[in-house]
Amino acid sequence: MRLPHCWNCNNLFKYRELFFFLKSKQCSKCGKQNYVTAKRRLRNAWSSPFVVILMFSGFYLFNMTIPIAILYGIFIIFIGMLIGPFTYEFTGSDEALFD
Ligand SMILES: [Zn+2]
Repeated sequence: MRLPHCWNCNNLFKYRELFFFLKSKQCSKCGKQNYVTAKRRLRNAWSSPFVVILMFSGFYLFNMTIPIAILYGIFIIFIGMLIGPFTYEFTGSDEALFD
């Protein structure tokens, strides 16, 4: 797994810079806006149902009580957030998901 780099100057983003951002991320080196490519956004959107399936199969397989199930759910989401920055790929324009 590799962290993404700026589409303009190839500056490698730091992990903590990518942990929280909304629509685009400004490069700290050249100042250009970096948008997540439509391809990656679509792929990340598709992975959400798998996370939900993973959560429910966990509840079922391990016969969890509600408080444990909630903790398990938070844990899965947390892992997803930790992996998130590695899944991005940036481009200079805000691409439409469907064209
Ligand atoms: Zn840059």
